[in-house]
Amino acid sequence: MTNGARVPPDAIYLDYQATTPTDPRVVDAMMPYLVQRFGNPHSGSHPFGQEASDAVERAREQVAALIGAEAREIVFTSGATESNNLAIKGAARFLKSRRHKLVTVATEHKCVLESARSLVAEGCELIILPVGRDGLVDLDRLRAAVDAQTALVSVMAVNNEIGVVQDLAAIGAIARAGGALFHTDAAQAFGKVPLDVAAQRIDLMSISGHKIYAPKGIGALYVRRRPRVRLEPLFSGGGQERGLRSGTLAPALIVGLGEAAEIAGREMAAEAARLSELAAVFLARLGPGVAVYGNRTARIPGNLNIGFDGIAAQDLMAAVPELALSVGSACTSAEVEPSYVLSALGLDGEAAASAVRVGFGRFTTEAELLRAADRIRGAVAGLRAPDLQPRLERAT
Ligand SMILES: *Cc1c(COP(=O)(O)O)cnc(C)c1O
Repeated sequence: MTNGARVPPDAIYLDYQATTPTDPRVVDAMMPYLVQRFGNPHSGSHPFGQEASDAVERAREQVAALIGAEAREIVFTSGATESNNLAIKGAARFLKSRRHKLVTVATEHKCVLESARSLVAEGCELIILPVGRDGLVDLDRLRAAVDAQTALVSVMAVNNEIGVVQDLAAIGAIARAGGALFHTDAAQAFGKVPLDVAAQRIDLMSISGHKIYAPKGIGALYVRRRPRVRLEPLFSGGGQERGLRSGTLAPALIVGLGEAAEIAGREMAAEAARLSELAAVFLARLGPGVAVYGNRTARIPGNLNIGFDGIAAQDLMAAVPELALSVGSACTSAEVEPSYVLSALGLDGEAAASAVRVGFGRFTTEAELLRAADRIRGAVAGLRAPDLQPRLERAT
């Protein structure tokens, strides 16, 4: 049952890290593959299959081009969750008898952490590294954690809650020096920051379509060929995608991902500059008294995780219902648990509970962000006004 929720006409979408709208240019590219060009790309015996297969191969090249990979190193999946599962479980299971340790980080996406945790029952040893107050991994701690038993180092490229960008090249070099594979969950990075699998020594990279203006339900995993990375597949079946991912490919979705990758590559620099400008304008309009969580420079421009001292995120969001904001916290019944990502930064409970994620992107206008900032500023003042000593009150 649904509750009949409707998006109000004055709503402003500020949750681009949760998902993005599909770019109309991406939809245009996809449409023919839903109707006229409906062939099964694995039906090589007739042109219906061949035209679908050609479209898939072109998309493979478009995705590969954005990360300096070869087309045949791209495996299409249903999204970054599947890619992360395939990379982590696939690599760990393949290497288990020789190397049984996995190293990851406390602020990873749940699907990375849960994939890694599930392998402990299969005999793997799991090391979860902390992050600093800025959300970045301490490279010395990473270096100390990687040894001759380490199968895989998995560190995300950009964090989905706080937007910080890890130093992938340094992490890749540490993994490579220890003879371990380096996997990165690049769901929030692909198409937004430059990535290069050679320079950054990445062996496995997870990609999601719906974070870069392609539809939900499509993603990819980059799997290095030289030196060759071997994975145990998750699915049994027809052996599609080099045996790594059985199942009929979805040409329309794949064409959408390819088109989205190409657009992102073409527009990345200009878009990043525009979003950085918008972030600065938004923060300036919010005025003083706003905290920004996570490293202030090593970050993607379309994400701000902000908080106001003594104001709970839930109260702020309730006061600005037309703003589609989010909190990195899981609400279970009446209790609100602070986000594990913000807790990992060492924020105290009240600071973590004040944090609101503001995500903006390709279709966000300056007018929208100015309006959002004014509404948030007004709401903060309103929440403070009824009680001139809010912090004293809360402390009792
Ligand atoms: C969205 C996201 C995922 C999951 O991607 P899906 O394609 O929705 O499965 C994984 N990791 C990060 C960092 C994400 O932002």
